[in-house]
Amino acid sequence: MYNFEFKNQTEILFGKGQTAKIAKRIPTNAKVLLMYGGGSIKKNGVYDDVVKALEGISYAEFSGVEPNPTFETLSKAFTIIKDEGIDFILAVGGGSVIDGAKFLAAGANFEGDPWHILEKQAQFSNPLPIGAVLTLPATGSESNGNSVVTKKATQQKLAFGHPSVQPIFAVLDPEYTFTLPQKQISNGTVDAFVHVIEQYLTFPVNSPIQDGFAESILKTLIQEGPKALENPKDYDTRANVMWAATMALNGLIGQGVPQDWATHMIGHELTALFGLDHAQTLAIVLPSLMRKQKQQKFQKIKQLGREVFKFEHESEEELVDETIAATQAFFEQMQVKTRISDYGLEKSAIDDIMAKLEENGRFKLGEHGDISLDVSKEILEMAYA
Ligand code: NAP
Ligand code: FE
Repeated sequence: MYNFEFKNQTEILFGKGQTAKIAKRIPTNAKVLLMYGGGSIKKNGVYDDVVKALEGISYAEFSGVEPNPTFETLSKAFTIIKDEGIDFILAVGGGSVIDGAKFLAAGANFEGDPWHILEKQAQFSNPLPIGAVLTLPATGSESNGNSVVTKKATQQKLAFGHPSVQPIFAVLDPEYTFTLPQKQISNGTVDAFVHVIEQYLTFPVNSPIQDGFAESILKTLIQEGPKALENPKDYDTRANVMWAATMALNGLIGQGVPQDWATHMIGHELTALFGLDHAQTLAIVLPSLMRKQKQQKFQKIKQLGREVFKFEHESEEELVDETIAATQAFFEQMQVKTRISDYGLEKSAIDDIMAKLEENGRFKLGEHGDISLDVSKEILEMAYA
């Protein structure tokens, strides 16, 4: 196992009615920025719960954060933060709102162009503290320090991460997910699944503890994801999906092991260029990446087949091929399409994606840095039809 330092600072408030407890967790006399997206929280009552919980606390609002949050939209909040003297951000929504909150937290006291935090990985100091009320299980953003922001003007979707912008608390109330459109449950399950794979399907490290946790999350997603689609108001199912998505990317399973993230890096370009949903891009890239990297990942794909899909093939080659096929079939079962052509894109889209990967310096992706631009291109070609 590699060396690691691990601390997860997010206090999880899990279950029905937990929003009522947030006031005590917000620093005394803090002026809060209540941040949310396009308004789903106003329709499903989450906004009312939050406002009630904030009684006696002074706050300003910033809404309209879009899916795949943009630098352009988020930047408008810097003026509010300054004018209102904001010292705490409460993000209410899915990964986009929470990621957006991290960017604002980091940029609030940053001298210069805050986009450099993403583009140049510029250091920042004194970020504002954040709390989160999660409404969409998917990204794990509620319990990690990562943020992904898009600059519309240049079609760049870039990430930064630092423990200091990780939420200090996160409410996970499974009932808040009852109103999610089918597509978002599909997307969320696939995103969480791929988060686990990016940390689990790597080699070589002897890490039975991390593997066991990862396999348990994968099995849960395979079992509960389809149920969450069929019975949107089944509390236990939603609770399991919600906790699985948080556990998938709260740092635990990734400690001391090599991590891949090539699927995410390639996927980000598909979103930046063509506006595909984040999870759609992952469902496209991962099966082909597994096929292309089959030899490097052979042992772990075998383990995935045996431990998660419970395959018992005698031929290792067949086992591995079946496991890759089963992964792709799971995405399709979750109603997320897995080929570039399924999204109405021409084959020439691959050239555009390649240009973006080059522009963003993605020359050595994967846990061993062996996914060169040529390999990425082959993966995309395999994923086309
Ligand atoms: P999202 O973009 O936050 O939300 C998608 C849609 O779901 C929005 O239209 C939102 O509507 C709606 N929605 C959310 N909760 C709802 C509810 N309870 N009922 C009805 N509608 C609801 O989706 P996401 O998948 O959580 O986040 C995706 C972003 O996270 C991408 O930019 C991706 O790159 C990033 N990401 C981050 C990490 C990380 O570690 N930080 C990891 C993976 C991906 P409203 O806007 O109206 O609320
Ligand atoms: Fe993701």
